[in-house]
Amino acid sequence: MSFENCSNAIDLLSTYEEKDGLSIQQLLDSKIHGGLTYNDFLVLPGKIDFPASIVDLETHLTKKITLKTPFVSSPMDTVTESNMAIKMALLGGIGIIHHNCTADEQAEMVRKVKKYENGFINDPIVISKEITVGQVKAMGEQFGFTSFPVTETGKVGGKLVGIVTSRDIQFHEDDSSSIAEVMTTDLVTGTAGVSLTDGNEILRKSKKGKLPIVDSEGNLVSMLSRTDLQKNLEFPHASKSFQSKQLLCGAAIGTIESDKERLAKLVAAGLDVVVLDSSQGNSVFQIEMIKYIKKTYPDLEVIGGNVVTREQAAQLIVAGVDGLRIGMGSGSICITQEVMACGRPQGTAVYKVTEFANKFGVPCIADGGVGNIGHITKAIALGASCVMMGGMLAGTSESPGEFFYRDGKRLKTYRGMGSIDAMQKTDSNANASTSRYFSEGDKVLVAQGVSGSVLDKGSIVKFIPYLYNGLQHSCQDIGVKSLTELKSSVMAGGVRFELRTPSSQLEGGVHNLYSYEKRLHN
Ligand code: IMP
Repeated sequence: MSFENCSNAIDLLSTYEEKDGLSIQQLLDSKIHGGLTYNDFLVLPGKIDFPASIVDLETHLTKKITLKTPFVSSPMDTVTESNMAIKMALLGGIGIIHHNCTADEQAEMVRKVKKYENGFINDPIVISKEITVGQVKAMGEQFGFTSFPVTETGKVGGKLVGIVTSRDIQFHEDDSSSIAEVMTTDLVTGTAGVSLTDGNEILRKSKKGKLPIVDSEGNLVSMLSRTDLQKNLEFPHASKSFQSKQLLCGAAIGTIESDKERLAKLVAAGLDVVVLDSSQGNSVFQIEMIKYIKKTYPDLEVIGGNVVTREQAAQLIVAGVDGLRIGMGSGSICITQEVMACGRPQGTAVYKVTEFANKFGVPCIADGGVGNIGHITKAIALGASCVMMGGMLAGTSESPGEFFYRDGKRLKTYRGMGSIDAMQKTDSNANASTSRYFSEGDKVLVAQGVSGSVLDKGSIVKFIPYLYNGLQHSCQDIGVKSLTELKSSVMAGGVRFELRTPSSQLEGGVHNLYSYEKRLHN
C-alpha cells in the first residue's frame, strides 16, 4: 500500500495485526523472561492531545479510601512520624506511622495528625494572668517572641481572658506587676471551625499580630499568627475524612497479641487505616488479626501484606483485607532476598498480585524499590493503585532524625526495619522490627536490612509536587489522562511495553559525559 492512498495513520498501519511493542501479558510472561524489575522494561509512548496539567492522579488506597495522589510513606522509624504524616496528607497522599515505639507514643503521633489544622497553631504557648511582667520578659528571651494568649487555666482549652504582646510589656518598668494589669483585653477572635482563608482575612483586617481562635464558650482552641500569613499555603489535594475534615492518618502494627492493645489506642486516637506490617504476610497470625480487626472495628480499613504471589494474596483477601501491600526484598535497604532466598523481582510481583487482587476490588500498594518517577508510572501501569516509598522520602526535612555532615555532605540516617540497629531498639513494647520478621524470641538476630544514610532532599512540600507533575507528564507521554485510564488501557492492550537489554539500560541513563550535575527539580 502506498502512503498517498492512506488518509490516516490507522490505514497506514492496517497491514499489521498487532500493535507495536508487547502487551502486559507478553511482557510479564515469566516463563520466557524470568522476573522483571522496574528497570527491565519501558512503556511505549502514545499520542499527546491534552495538556499534562489535566492528568488526574486520583486513586484508591483501600476499598473505601481514595486519595488525590498515589503517594504513601513507609512505616519506618527513619521515614514516618507525625511530621511526615501531616505533610503527606496535606499534599494528597498518606503517611503510615511506624510502630518501633511504645503504643502510647504511636497513638500520640496519630493524634497529632488528626488534630492538625493547616496554618493554625494548635499548641500555642499560653500563660495565666498570675504570671508577672518579668517572667514574660524572660520567656521572650527564651522563645524569641513575647506575644502570648492569657487563659484562666494558663493552658489551651482554658477561657481566653487577654493577650499580652511586646507593646504591653516593653516599657513597663515594674517587673513584679501581674500580667492582668498590662494585658490587652479588647480582643479580636476567630471562631473554631473558621477556614484558613477567612481566619487570615480577619487577622489582616484586625491589624493585630495574633488571632486567637475560641470555641462557643470562649475557650482558647488555637491561634493564627500574622508572621505566618504569607507562609500559610493552601493544599487543594489534602487527604481528609469526609465527616470530620481531619487529615487522614495510617499506622502500622504487628500481628502478635499485644498489637490488639496497641490498635485500641490507635483507634481511640482517630486512626483511619491500619497496615499489618510483616515481611511475609501469609501467616496464620496475620489472617487471625485481619479477622479480629474486621470484627472489632468494622469501619477501620485494613491493609495486609507483604505479599508477592497470588497464593499469598488469596489468603489475605479471603480473611477480609481492604488493601494489599506488595513487595519482598525490593526495598533499597533490604537484604531479604540475599539472606532468606525468598522474594520476587518487584515488577513481576506487582503484576502477578494486582492482576489477581484487582478482580476482587482489592487495591494494591507497590512497596519498595521506587527510586524515581518512572518507577511510579511503571508500578501503576502494572496494576498498583499506590506506591509506598521509604528511601525516596528519607533525608527530607519531614523524616525523623537530625541531619549530620560527612565528607562535606548533609545527610540523615535511613535504616531498614530489619537492620540490627532497628531490631535492637530497646524501648519497652517497641517490637515492630522483630515482629515484622518473626524474630521476637531469637537469641541471634538475623538482619534482613541495613542501616545507612541518604542525602538531604529538602522538604517534601517541594518534592511531592515534583513527583506529582512528573507523573502527570509521564501519563501525557503515554497518552492517558488519568491513572485509572493508564491501568485500563494496559489491561486492554492499548498501552504497550518494551523489554530493555542491559545495554539499552545503559543507553537510557546519562552517558559519555566528562562530568554533569543531576538536578531533579528547581
Ligand atoms: P524503599 O522505598 O526502596 O527504600 O523500600 C522501603 C520498603 O522496604 C518498606 O516500605 C518495607 O516494605 C521494606 N523494608 C523496610 N525495612 C526493611 C528491611 O530491613 N529489610 C527488608 N525490607 C525492608
